[in-house]
Amino acid sequence: MAIRFSEPVNAIKHSDTGDILKLIAQPDMISFAGGLPAEESFPAEQIRKATELVLQSDSGKALQYGPSLGYDPLRESIANRMNRMVKTNFTKDNILITCGSQQGLDMLCRLFCNKGDTVVVEKPSYLGAITAFNLSQVNYVEIPGDGKGMIMSELKKALDTHDVRLIYIVTDFQNPTGITWSRERREEFMALVDEYEVPVIEDNPYGELRYEGEYLPSLNSFDTKGLVCSLGTFSKTFAPGMRLGWIAANPLFIEKCDLLKQNMDLSTAPFTQRICAAWLENFDFDAHVQEIKNLYKSRRDAMLSAIDEFFPKEVQHTYPEGGLFIWCTLPEYMKSRHILQQCIEQKVAFVPGEAFFTSEGNTNFFRLNYSCNNEEVIRVGIRRIADVLKAILK
Ligand code: PMP
Repeated sequence: MAIRFSEPVNAIKHSDTGDILKLIAQPDMISFAGGLPAEESFPAEQIRKATELVLQSDSGKALQYGPSLGYDPLRESIANRMNRMVKTNFTKDNILITCGSQQGLDMLCRLFCNKGDTVVVEKPSYLGAITAFNLSQVNYVEIPGDGKGMIMSELKKALDTHDVRLIYIVTDFQNPTGITWSRERREEFMALVDEYEVPVIEDNPYGELRYEGEYLPSLNSFDTKGLVCSLGTFSKTFAPGMRLGWIAANPLFIEKCDLLKQNMDLSTAPFTQRICAAWLENFDFDAHVQEIKNLYKSRRDAMLSAIDEFFPKEVQHTYPEGGLFIWCTLPEYMKSRHILQQCIEQKVAFVPGEAFFTSEGNTNFFRLNYSCNNEEVIRVGIRRIADVLKAILK
């Protein structure tokens, strides 16, 4: 029997990142490979109380089908928080609740792109966005950065030479590099976007987790033509298992996304949305975020200082002001994949950087996650990687 699968499914490229994650799932392995929040940061007891409240006061609506745009009080509190934190000017009508920001990536690419269209991405970019966009069978132009965001002359060149349908960026503590776009670069970027009138996805799952420096405004705050769609999520500040994210955009884009949403899954779970809204109403979100920041800041500091102490000087690394990741650059002739094999023998792991690029090559990078191990384990793990690197560089 010859079953024929669809083109987008046949076009899914096998990535061995999943295989690597399985390979390193051994009890005595120190893994810096995942990108997950720390389980001890989840407010489980508060969620239990919020769930009880919902079931006592609102069980009919919570367990019923719900509106595709999402639960209004939750949409409202998201708009208010964005206005306070990243200087937007939203109401609930600018917000659609999604099943995590990952769903937002899928929806927005479907919204703007046909097969073969060009999407501009950062070099490197978030792997999950690339795999989501691949389902729409788009082509990519990668724009390198300089530590403050995309290089604008390169972006302009791409906009002049391609019919760009969508630009995707992670402005704050990017996954995988940890880099944040400067305020000036955000303004320059929006001037170009304004001129070329291209829709933008500003994906910002980590923005709340800033350990130092000032919060920077969303691209939305510089957007005069309503071209920016911001993606947010409760995955890093509440719990990813709730699968709650959102798209914040102009009402026309929200209306179109709503059509997609209705046809994809009818709505995000009304139950989890109400639990989240009850939690926001009854507990102190700011205090909770502060606790997570304290936890991760100390882990970030431990990793940075272990890197400075143990890594050979030939290895460069980024300095993230927030988020979960540090990005390391090896001398060009070195292959992070080979180094990973040797590291696994020494019971330590990271993610090789290749998966975060849409182009070939790029073999001398790796990503380190610091949210999931305590300071002591981080120090031991970084020392193990350093020993492997030193033996190769000798
Ligand atoms: N965007 C980026 C940049 C991410 O790192 C992640 C999670 N790793 C997501 C989107 C998806 O997160 P979620 O669907 O849990 O909101």
